[in-house]
Amino acid sequence: MKINECPVCGSKSREEVAALLNRANFCVCNECGHGYILDGPDADYSGFRQNYTDEQLMDENCSLNQMAEQRYRYIMKNVNFTKTGKCSILDVGCGYGHFLNKFILWSKTGIEPSVIAANYLRKMNTTISIHPGDYKSYSHVMDNFREGKDIISAHHVIEHLTTPKELIEFCIKYSTPQGLIYLTLPTVDDIENYEPTLTDLYFLSHGLHTQLFSYPSLLKLLSQFNIKWYRYEKEPFWPGLGNSYSLVLQSGVNNSRFYPEKEMASMGVMLVKRFFQKLDILQMEFSEYVYDTKNYKKAIYGAGTHTYSMIESLFEWSDIVPKKVFPLIIDDNPREEEMFGIPIMPLEEALNYKFSGILISAPASEEQIGKRLKEDDRIKCRVFGPPPKYKPYKR
Ligand SMILES: [Zn+2]
Repeated sequence: MKINECPVCGSKSREEVAALLNRANFCVCNECGHGYILDGPDADYSGFRQNYTDEQLMDENCSLNQMAEQRYRYIMKNVNFTKTGKCSILDVGCGYGHFLNKFILWSKTGIEPSVIAANYLRKMNTTISIHPGDYKSYSHVMDNFREGKDIISAHHVIEHLTTPKELIEFCIKYSTPQGLIYLTLPTVDDIENYEPTLTDLYFLSHGLHTQLFSYPSLLKLLSQFNIKWYRYEKEPFWPGLGNSYSLVLQSGVNNSRFYPEKEMASMGVMLVKRFFQKLDILQMEFSEYVYDTKNYKKAIYGAGTHTYSMIESLFEWSDIVPKKVFPLIIDDNPREEEMFGIPIMPLEEALNYKFSGILISAPASEEQIGKRLKEDDRIKCRVFGPPPKYKPYKR
């Protein structure tokens, strides 16, 4: 994928700021401070899935469900229109439907490009009208409706798109007058408290995250539309989801904001650069750590995207053969037999091998895994979290 001009302001004036794993090049726009991918791999979401079982997805304590509940309460507090008839919501990139499910009495529609997630939703929930594909393919369906939607939401979608403006246009076009547009997205705001993880590296280097928004670049983006900026707030902390923000917009209402454009752009540039510096330090420190402890064999717990990026970054940053330091990967639900030549196996099987530590590499379930391993008497070695903190769970 190649992007030739700033997806936010259209300028070609930019500075290249990062080449991730020799594969994805990122730049920052000099005119508006927006960060974006210049060229990188093409993303394909049709087979995209997370490593959850149906049972985990249905569990009330599943983090996707808890996140959905928090978001539901948040948007309902912000609904400020009166309607006597049935309200309607459209969720773009609805995943497994956790968010839509909360709107019990509403007319619910979900658009989901992952065939696996869309099929799950079809099987589990008949109250949601589900459209497999992307939001653009749904436009012709919407064109046949008289009424727009009262809420159009898109959680962690806009940062994946190469043309983020089109999503905003879509939301404005198909929402009711006064309707709300509810987006959540990762941004590089609050960079001083933002600890990038190697999952960030995975998403960026695989062309999955193509946009790096900040408050300045969102201002620039939204100033081009007839839309009211209603709320912009940091979301509560969710493991594995760094620096997520909620953005609530109201369509059909104009409130142009005046802001010092040049000053904002330079702030955006600074934030984007700082983000990549932090990501760089993370990779470098991890390589140093591996180098310093190379005589001590560790198992990695978790065979997901975080682990993939962690091992891949070792190839770029050091001459260490990852397999020699990390002889095996433990996973509760292995989908592959190996990763970079390192065998993947369930815990039971791994107990037959010798290693002197377990590094948990699964940001979304680190705490649960850590607690479980701590209580497991069969495990006598050290257990600790991922870089940069290496949080100890068992000494
Ligand atoms: Zn720009």
